[in-house]
Amino acid sequence: MIKRWACLFLAFLLLSSVIASVYADKIYIVRQGDVLWKIAENNGTIWEKLAEINELKDPNRIFPGQVLKLEDEKADVSQVEEKTDFFAGEGRGCYGPIKVEVAMKGDKIEDIRILEHNESPGVGEVAARIIADEIVKYQSIAVDVIAGCTKSSNGVISAVKQALEKAEVNLSDYMKKPEKSITSIRERIEKQADVVVIGAGGAGLAAAVSAHQNGATVLVLEKAPMVGGNTIISGAAYNAVDPKRQSAQGIEDSIEKHYIQTYEGGDKLAKPELVRILVDNAYPALEWLESLGMKFKDEIFTVLGALWPRSHKPEKPLGTGYIDTYMDYINKHSDEIEIMLRTKAVELIVENGRVIGVEAENQEGTVIAKAKKGVILATGGFSANIQARNYYNKIWPDLTNLKTTNRPEITGDGIWMAEKIGANLIGMEHIQLLPMGDPETGSLSGNIEQSVENRIFVNKQGNRFVDEGARRDVMTKALFEQEDCFMWVIVDKHSYPTGDTKNNFNETIDQLVEEGRAFKADTLEELAGKIGVDPVNLVKTVETFNMAVEGKIKDPFGRTLFQYKLDTPPYYACGRVPTVHHTMGGVEINTKAQVLDKNGNVIPGLYAAGEVTGGIHGSNRLGGNAVADTVVFGRIAGESAAKGE
Ligand SMILES: Cc1cc2nc3c(=O)[nH]c(=O)nc-3n(C[C@H](O)[C@H](O)[C@H](O)COP(=O)(O)OP(=O)(O)OC[C@H]3O[C@@H](n4cnc5c(N)ncnc54)[C@H](O)[C@@H]3O)c2cc1C
Repeated sequence: MIKRWACLFLAFLLLSSVIASVYADKIYIVRQGDVLWKIAENNGTIWEKLAEINELKDPNRIFPGQVLKLEDEKADVSQVEEKTDFFAGEGRGCYGPIKVEVAMKGDKIEDIRILEHNESPGVGEVAARIIADEIVKYQSIAVDVIAGCTKSSNGVISAVKQALEKAEVNLSDYMKKPEKSITSIRERIEKQADVVVIGAGGAGLAAAVSAHQNGATVLVLEKAPMVGGNTIISGAAYNAVDPKRQSAQGIEDSIEKHYIQTYEGGDKLAKPELVRILVDNAYPALEWLESLGMKFKDEIFTVLGALWPRSHKPEKPLGTGYIDTYMDYINKHSDEIEIMLRTKAVELIVENGRVIGVEAENQEGTVIAKAKKGVILATGGFSANIQARNYYNKIWPDLTNLKTTNRPEITGDGIWMAEKIGANLIGMEHIQLLPMGDPETGSLSGNIEQSVENRIFVNKQGNRFVDEGARRDVMTKALFEQEDCFMWVIVDKHSYPTGDTKNNFNETIDQLVEEGRAFKADTLEELAGKIGVDPVNLVKTVETFNMAVEGKIKDPFGRTLFQYKLDTPPYYACGRVPTVHHTMGGVEINTKAQVLDKNGNVIPGLYAAGEVTGGIHGSNRLGGNAVADTVVFGRIAGESAAKGE
């Protein structure tokens, strides 16, 4: 008798878990930019039904994170018996394996769960999720990869392919190129807000938050399928003269020094009043971020080309701290701030000399976004636009074959849109190259330097060739003169006390060594052997450097920024080449972030912030000044636009 009851109880447990998993599949978590009718269409139902099942009072008001039931539980009991099978698959992403579990109901891909990955936070991980969703939506693994995230996208695709092979389905059924819904009849989507922001990177999101804090409703248009722009992949170093953290480390500094280094470091070609705004407001803007919940580490460092130890590092990796902070605020106010992803602004709408809106394109149609108070350009620079950088470049050798650290969307769209309606462009010929590109991709990932003070650069002969604390343009020009324009960055245990210490790009040194992107050795001679440089030269170079650190000699290259000697094994090396990093030129603004025309007059209704602007950094931007620029001027642009100034 007891045995019979136990069996019945077990059967009951099994049935309830099946029901639970079936129901778990039938929910949808609302994302930024979702609308109810679209969710309904994608899930084979109608919005009226979703509104009824979810008891929505106003179907126009759904918010990111809201859980929607897709089916009426009561009406669904008949389907409980249909079986879902699960298959595991693995592919290789950008930073190691991506493991997925594919849920199949018959031949239908019901769901894809990403079980494990090491993709970059906020970028690769988002791309992986988008690809998984698209595969489910189109029942095809022939979906388009996400631009700038090819490896993450392909990692998911091959993992799902492996799972489908295990499911023994006919693979060719899942290889059809999805027909995206670009129909001949394009919709005209009309939108309106007080302030329209173009670009959801650092400056755009700072502007959106600030505009809202100043009483405006906001619409943000973003052409990528995710928010963050270059800001989210940046090293995130933020320069500000800090009354608390710098003095705790005994670092002497002043706002005047920050001003002089920024202005003179850009050959006095910036607009002095904009430099003044940047340095005066860098710390208050950092406090503003903290008031929104962002956390910075206590330790101050010198990022490459910053010229002085005043760089702050967020607690969260890369630029995710900034973007998460803005998005937390935006998600809390999603009834008044909307973000439209995959929506590319193409033209500014001008009426009677005033910018009154933006025309944009997305998969559904043409978006006409009207702005009652102002439009803010925050589309970033143009480092990823080879034609444009070649057209404006007057300083560097031909840039056609050089790679970039930037994301592929960073093509200067806002600059050309503004130019078309008469905005003045300044400093366009000033293009920043870094000596720190990954030899294969041009990205900064794999760069093992931690702080300027504790690393040297050597060429293929094992010799130093430049002051490694100098301006970025000075270092890159010197690198162009070395054999194959190639150098090694050398550090020791001071930079990586343990194998799991991370670089500024969220990679551990052990991981880089394992992948063959960095080299490790117990002696300098052994390191020289591994990287193929003359050991005698390398040892002598380091000995001379160490004497300069101790103050026994003047550094042969005039370097003044030192901390530790390079004398503690293990030693590490990684190879680097020049890469296109930043464009200092762009639309001219005044101190209120209003865009100016060719006669120096304000273009009513148009504002700009971040790398889309020119005139703040002159001919050479200091490392760590750009992120500060996005926050300082993003905040000002938001306030000015909200007030309609
Ligand atoms: C790898 C890397 C590391 C860096 N590290 C640092 C650092 O440590 N410290 C520092 O100070 N600076 C750093 N920088 C520079 C700094 O990150 C950038 O200058 C800054 O983040 C630019 O911010 P932004 O908001 O102007 O543009 P972005 O953050 O690039 O955002 C622009 C956004 O606009 C969108 N967009 C473009 N065109 C359109 C269009 N037509 N319609 C709609 N949307 C559009 C883009 O998709 C993007 O999302 C780094 C840059 C890179 C690439």
